[in-house]
Amino acid sequence: MPKIICGARARQNANQPCRQPSMKNGRCRLHGGKSTGPKTEEGKLKAARANYKHGLYTLEAIAEREYMRTMMKWRDDLADM
Ligand SMILES: [Zn+2]
Repeated sequence: MPKIICGARARQNANQPCRQPSMKNGRCRLHGGKSTGPKTEEGKLKAARANYKHGLYTLEAIAEREYMRTMMKWRDDLADM
């Protein structure tokens, strides 16, 4: 079920959502409503990297922080015994 309103951020109203009626991919005709997304492997990779800044919130980075937190908690628990 497609959304009725386009949710793209619009520059002209302080990045509030665009309120045009949306097409079947949830965007209006001005914000890629006709687009069906990247097709080639190169294009898919490029799209996945489009907003990648520093990787601090990738699944790998989050898992590593969680691992370190667990290790430090174990160390503290051992020290208390
Ligand atoms: Zn729009």
